[in-house]
Amino acid sequence: MRLNRRDFLKFSGAGIGAAAVLTFDTKGIVIAAPKELQLKTRVKETATICCYCSVGCGAIVADYEDGIIKIEGNPDHPVNEGSLCPKGLAMAQIHQVNGKPNTYRLTTPLYRAPNSADWEEKSWGWMINTIAQRVKSTRDASWNEAMGRTDAIACLGGGELDNEECYLLAKMNRALGVVYLEHCARL
Ligand code: SF4
Repeated sequence: MRLNRRDFLKFSGAGIGAAAVLTFDTKGIVIAAPKELQLKTRVKETATICCYCSVGCGAIVADYEDGIIKIEGNPDHPVNEGSLCPKGLAMAQIHQVNGKPNTYRLTTPLYRAPNSADWEEKSWGWMINTIAQRVKSTRDASWNEAMGRTDAIACLGGGELDNEECYLLAKMNRALGVVYLEHCARL
């Protein structure tokens, strides 16, 4: 088999994924070539949006056998063009820590009663009803009619709230007359 330089480059390019080791004699004739090898590792890539803040950076998650092996910024995303901040780069820790499922992640609400040192697991229904009842009774008891507001309730947003959630939270609190609104990211 005779190869000129152009043929050789084409042959090499087509052989990505194979061990491209060829042996030539002094006239440029291939006298030995390995068999093509199939890649054994199937890595799936999924485009997603960072879950942490309202900037909404795009990311690409590479996973293999249900484990995340890499997360990086999506270069095609118009917001971040391939970059991620440290929080975004650490997104995999929501799912796994040191290659094992993250057992620290809470899946049910925890409630600590006033003056108690212990946390109790509660259902979402109990938690939502309790918060609604306490907001209502606190607002009724502290309502400033002249100012149209309450100074007894504050709302602190979290870094995992996205744009739409922050918008709804701010709308709801302003409608309730809550003026102390804060957010840890302040982006
Ligand atoms: S936390 Fe960082 S990576 Fe995630 S959306 Fe915000 S700025 Fe982007």
